[in-house]
Amino acid sequence: MTSGWTIESVKATIAAKKVSARELAAEHFKRIAARNGELNAYLTLSEERAYAQADKIDAAVAAGKPLPALAGVPIAVKDVISTRGVRTTCGSKILNNYIPPYDATAVSRLEAAGAVILGKTNCDEFAMGSSNENSAYGPVQNPAAPGTVPGGSSGGSAAAVAADLAVASLGTDTGGSIRQPGAFCGIPAMMGSYGRVSRYGLIAFASSLDRIGPFARNVGDVAAVLKVMAGRDPNDSTSTTAPVEDYTRELKKPVKGMKIGIPKEYYGEGMDSGVRAKITAGIELLRTLGCQLMDIELRHTDYAIATYYIIATAEASSNLARYDGVRYGLREEADTLVATYRKTRGAGFGAEVKRRIVLGTYVLSAGYYDAYYLKGQKVRALIAQDFRNAFEKVDAIVTPTSPVPPFSLGERTNDPLQMYLADIYTVTGSLAGLPGISLPCGKISGKLPVGLQIFGPAFGEARVLQLAHAFEEAGGATV
Ligand code: GLN
Repeated sequence: MTSGWTIESVKATIAAKKVSARELAAEHFKRIAARNGELNAYLTLSEERAYAQADKIDAAVAAGKPLPALAGVPIAVKDVISTRGVRTTCGSKILNNYIPPYDATAVSRLEAAGAVILGKTNCDEFAMGSSNENSAYGPVQNPAAPGTVPGGSSGGSAAAVAADLAVASLGTDTGGSIRQPGAFCGIPAMMGSYGRVSRYGLIAFASSLDRIGPFARNVGDVAAVLKVMAGRDPNDSTSTTAPVEDYTRELKKPVKGMKIGIPKEYYGEGMDSGVRAKITAGIELLRTLGCQLMDIELRHTDYAIATYYIIATAEASSNLARYDGVRYGLREEADTLVATYRKTRGAGFGAEVKRRIVLGTYVLSAGYYDAYYLKGQKVRALIAQDFRNAFEKVDAIVTPTSPVPPFSLGERTNDPLQMYLADIYTVTGSLAGLPGISLPCGKISGKLPVGLQIFGPAFGEARVLQLAHAFEEAGGATV
């Protein structure tokens, strides 16, 4: 059997009865068994569940029934997304024995569309990180550039697709955690607008920023997975009623004449020269497709990292208060209740999570709330306004996904600030609630993948995907 499956090739092959959904799942589990020891992309496999679903698809094929959109497609799910009966750890020791009693809406929608869930992927603890080195279960290797990090926090999901251990996967993005690992592993990766995909069953990091989105082998597959998950969910009051466009059909619309904003704030100091060369070539490619390039200003970009790390940590400190040894997961018994809390949290959380709980508690505390948290919310509004102003003039905004190519394992672990700066181009769109995609845009010295990021206006997913598709078709991955 071949590797490099796409949703289209899976569907065609299964419908033609050349391969069964069960065989395809087995082929993936075999590859996972061979490579996961080295890559550490999966934390838990859900074989029983996968084969039961595959058998359902095979029965539908045998009965000549019409096949749903993702029939038989093997998909991996980041371990912060709840799966009924399948261990969900959030990459943390504190949840190492947690088995959710229900499925996230994103997962149940994928399964209803015929997808086969292979298992749960490694990630930074509670999705906090940019390199996957904060997982309590060890780092993930980048299959696209051995020796380097796969990006984070959804590193396992990105690596699984890049190494052919899944056809598509789900990640979550709070400040860049889908787009940046997509860039580092050389595959397309997208977050829809805030509210586009239900967060029900997504274990919260920062609720006003968290989003679920897909990794896949091509833009068409990204569109197909996003479409299945998108749409209002009564279980998440922040999910939107805005209609879901037919992203797959919209993909092929021409991009000639599209106006593309190039924000000067994203092309200054701090960008690696290799990244700059590839992004410049990528932008040139968009020009040859007939897009009109325009310089724009996003004035408050400089404040984005500070704003993000105030708001995200504040929300995290509140969301993570529930892990107290009483209600979920790990419990470290001690003499008093307070001592039990302290011992459980001390033993269960890793250093980065603790750092953020401390920072988040501080910015929310009496006397500092106005100076930090409230100020952060005001700056967030200004950043969102910058984008709204820009989208009055342009249809899409193009930037690098990350200022640097994938770095070596261990290179930044002792310098949290350096690690936070890796998010400089992604957190803005997160704060503003916009859709964004990262696309492969060549490799530095033929080795290190570079990602080009496209932002669209709120609920402009179809437009983002159109431009992404045109870029991919024109050979953007090898500029
Ligand atoms: N790297 C960022 C952080 O550490 C983003 C994480 C994310 O998007 N989940 O917070």
